[in-house]
Amino acid sequence: MNSTLVTFPSGRTSGRSELVGIVPVGDRHGLVVAETPFHPLDHTWPDQPADRGTVGGTPVIDCVTGAQSATGETFLGADIPVRRGDEGWRWLVVHVTGEAPPPVGTEVELEVDAAHRAALSAGHTACHLAALALNAALAGHWRKEARLDRLGHPDFDQTAITSSRIVEGGSVDVYRLGKSLRKKGFSAEGLDFDAVAGEVNDRLKTWVAADAPVRIDVPGPELTARRTWRCELPEGEAAIPCGGTHVARTSELGRVQVSLTLDEATLTMHTTCG
Ligand SMILES: [Zn+2]
Repeated sequence: MNSTLVTFPSGRTSGRSELVGIVPVGDRHGLVVAETPFHPLDHTWPDQPADRGTVGGTPVIDCVTGAQSATGETFLGADIPVRRGDEGWRWLVVHVTGEAPPPVGTEVELEVDAAHRAALSAGHTACHLAALALNAALAGHWRKEARLDRLGHPDFDQTAITSSRIVEGGSVDVYRLGKSLRKKGFSAEGLDFDAVAGEVNDRLKTWVAADAPVRIDVPGPELTARRTWRCELPEGEAAIPCGGTHVARTSELGRVQVSLTLDEATLTMHTTCG
């Protein structure tokens, strides 16, 4: 096995699997199973927080990505020295617990906190829709040809983003409006960000009302498979590479709204739904 197999992309929140390894995490225990419904924090792009829940009835304090080198050394989270999915490494979902685990080889029940997951899934779908709506609202402010998103608008989001954090029922995305973005042809000069937010919110309302289906393309069952979020919007099918979890239809989000705040060259988009 070169990777933990994961079932969260299809929306699963429970499972049963064999405990295949235990790695020390300070004075805690990192449990590795063959297959898990738990979504761990990604170390390369840590946008969606770890799932909560229990393994074998024991609370999972944290759930992180682990990478094991060919020599058997295991690194966790920010300490991983290679990029997500690097070949030659084993990629693991590490469930961190505070209690002594059962022996390797034991079958354990895995239960994710479904309400917490559902709130993160809604936040993550809202985050992607808000990014696409922001691209559309800013499309007229590019002076050079830029890389386009799947709806045909210059991809402000992927060009300027510095961090994205999914929270329960929303997200916080941070964009850098510096010199390098100006060189690529985007100018924020004279932009009324309240008006931009209004335009984004109008578009989000239309997309929620369209009850568009959302799905995740899953090329393989392993943790680091290159999965893609897809949403059939009225304008066409949107697609964004994504390792997280999502709702099944845009109507599940309720009202999606963004606010934009500019602080010097940093633009922050707060998205909420529900
Ligand atoms: Zn995503």
